[in-house]
Amino acid sequence: MRNELLKNFRRIVIKIGSGVLTGQGSGLDDTLMAGLAGQVARLRRDGKEVVIVSSGAIAAGRRKLGLEERPRTIPQKQATAAVGQSRLMHAYENAFDPHGFTVAQLLLTRDDLANRHRFLNARATIDTLLGYGVIPIINENDTVAVDEIKFGDNDNLSALVTNLADAQLLMILTDIDGFYDADPRSNPDARLIHTVKKITREVELAAGGTGSTVGTGGMATKVAAAKRAGEYGVPTIMLNGTQPGLIARVLAGEEVGTLFLPAGKSLTSRKHWIAHTLRTTGRIIVDAGASAALAGHGRSLLPSGIVRVEGSFDRGACVRVCGADEVEFCRGIVDYSSSEIQAILGHKSGEIEEILGYRYSDEIIHRDNLVVAA
Ligand code: GLU
Repeated sequence: MRNELLKNFRRIVIKIGSGVLTGQGSGLDDTLMAGLAGQVARLRRDGKEVVIVSSGAIAAGRRKLGLEERPRTIPQKQATAAVGQSRLMHAYENAFDPHGFTVAQLLLTRDDLANRHRFLNARATIDTLLGYGVIPIINENDTVAVDEIKFGDNDNLSALVTNLADAQLLMILTDIDGFYDADPRSNPDARLIHTVKKITREVELAAGGTGSTVGTGGMATKVAAAKRAGEYGVPTIMLNGTQPGLIARVLAGEEVGTLFLPAGKSLTSRKHWIAHTLRTTGRIIVDAGASAALAGHGRSLLPSGIVRVEGSFDRGACVRVCGADEVEFCRGIVDYSSSEIQAILGHKSGEIEEILGYRYSDEIIHRDNLVVAA
């Protein structure tokens, strides 16, 4: 199983954390980057297509600016990233040059990907770059990304990129050996788990808290990323990127790192995008009959099953759908605005036109635009 998943892929997303690129020091570690580039070049020569998601802009900028402390305020972070991003790309160019590979920079914000046209455009660009034999290197556009439009961290970004790039494998390179059943820094009995079959609540709890001092992500964000990638049918392999030659060793079948198996049922690209890339703006509370129809039978959400609408949103927004217990069990793109839903909730679809004077569709959320939580 492990061998098959790690061999039969065509396209891979490799996420490289700041803690790896800096070798835990403060600037970029050129020797380490040269080693990584050599391993990626070998993958390319084996016919694999590689997309890199790289952190390290802030770390590189901090070194250049001679900042002792990690920048704290948003303008400080953005300014430091602006200084560091070009240095980061320069370091990648130097690392890949001896192997004859060209790199390309893609800076994204969540807003870019939340727009379906821009998402598809970015996808076409990545495809074209790979067609040219170029290695795309993606980072968050830190200089313009504020909280509302942020991916949060590059672990999450890498999971969304598996869908964007339509990859079959996600590799997260970090500065520890893999996923442990407890925090190895504080618990000497912590055991490395080689294969996580399912990301259960227990796994998520075991991941809580472990953090590196350089990157923004910890173990929790990596497990969350593996879960998201898994919902797209993509397995995640987590490896210690500071260990020379480990990529080749794991792909050759050696049992290093942690492999997270994908979910049994995977979402289509568009549904995965609705579930994970779009931001939700409001809530719809439905009755028990609608809950069963949506979750159990994959039906569309009709106005008759809606009990309450919360928040103010337009037609086309992504909205959370909750049962009587107020817990979200699915989300989707609405065909009507919150004020229109307020007017027609509890009514039959046949009455929509009479109430509003027009009708877009019979459904509030069509089943093609609805994703039930895993
Ligand atoms: N985009 C940030 C950087 O390049 C890193 C974000 C992260 O590591 O999660 O410095």
